[in-house]
Amino acid sequence: MVDKFFRIDKRILSAAEKALEKCAGAFCEIEGICEHNSQKVLAAFIEEGISERHFGTTTGYGYGDDGREALERVFARCMGGEAALIRHNFVSGTHALAVALFGLLRPGDTLLCVTGTPYDTLHKVIGIKKAYPGSLAEFGIKYRQVDRLENGEIDFEGIKKAVCDPSVKVVHVQRSRGYSVMPSVSVEKIVEICKAVKGARPDVAILVDNCYGEFVEKDEPLSVGADLAAGSLIKNPGGGIAKTGGYIAGRADLVERCAHRLTAPGLGGGMGATLGQNRDMFLGLFLAPLVVGNALKTAVFAAALFEGLGYKVSPRYCDFRTDIVQAIYLERPEALVAFCQGIQKGAPVDSFVVPEPWDMPGYEDKVIMASGAFCAGSSIELSADAPLREPYVAFLQGGISFHAAKAGVLLAAQSMLEKGLLKGV
Ligand SMILES: *Cc1c(COP(=O)(O)O)cnc(C)c1O
Repeated sequence: MVDKFFRIDKRILSAAEKALEKCAGAFCEIEGICEHNSQKVLAAFIEEGISERHFGTTTGYGYGDDGREALERVFARCMGGEAALIRHNFVSGTHALAVALFGLLRPGDTLLCVTGTPYDTLHKVIGIKKAYPGSLAEFGIKYRQVDRLENGEIDFEGIKKAVCDPSVKVVHVQRSRGYSVMPSVSVEKIVEICKAVKGARPDVAILVDNCYGEFVEKDEPLSVGADLAAGSLIKNPGGGIAKTGGYIAGRADLVERCAHRLTAPGLGGGMGATLGQNRDMFLGLFLAPLVVGNALKTAVFAAALFEGLGYKVSPRYCDFRTDIVQAIYLERPEALVAFCQGIQKGAPVDSFVVPEPWDMPGYEDKVIMASGAFCAGSSIELSADAPLREPYVAFLQGGISFHAAKAGVLLAAQSMLEKGLLKGV
């Protein structure tokens, strides 16, 4: 491998060369999925007759926004649902998930998480530890969870038992590992979860936290039995182009309940000015399968490189993937910091910034984050986050251009090498 621009050490380049050779099979697989999903999205655009008039804008109430309505139909088709809300008005993925939960649950109901403890930011939404102001708990909505088995597998027997409680109205499934060392949940596993839940309780709604999972596999949770899915547009489905936002997609009756929660009861989904965002949202969605493919190649390459250097990684370069997150066990806090600082050096925006660990609100340990993105906080762009705690794992994700992101990964190794913290060279 040649490096014309970044003064990467020869030993790292040689390890990278070996890593790339190992990636060939996985890259081929990714190409196949990328082609399938790119054509699925194209077919949805064609079926809905997308035209330049859909790129127009509205202000004020946003009544009759053709573009918004068409985008929601296209997106529903892409996700395998009947209807969708895909809007810049969702401030984040957490917001979209919260709207879905508040849309579906009523006082006295129970929310059942079946893939273990949910993503950090949902703890306050649910009110897991205490009835946080505005949380589901404060509204008298109960919470239970089914933990993973000791080997990380889904506890199907536990799910079948827990779902028999008649107060359970929503089952929550988290597809991505998020920032945990739990394995992600494949669409195939989601099929099994849906069968187990619906076999016992056909009336329960299954909500999937689909963050980081969109377009990683050929099928989406909604096309295999889930009722509702939600996620962020500054992750996979925004394709690196959408400037902000989130989505909820799925069964039409449930999406409508969520729409009345997103705006107001009686208003629903027929409002919401798009302020010129329609074209970006369409373009981002169109590119999303390709961009997700680039992020996946970046993750696979990083896995092969760091495994070759002697680090534990999860998933491995040859493992099946259902999300774009790559965990790399760096073993020491200083190594974690050097890794993230190197990723930042390879960012197109703010490459000169040196990230440091800080006390981020809502987290118990200090956290270090590398992100030099066109869209603040975007994690479909190359980024790395790590809580400074055992076993000192860096979570790497994104990479809208594999060729550029590869340099970012090499700079991470280089940054560790320069501090005498890189194994295997
Ligand atoms: C990113 C993410 C969310 C939502 O996070 P936001 O930062 O609010 O967009 C929820 N669940 C999982 C698994 C995630 O990865």
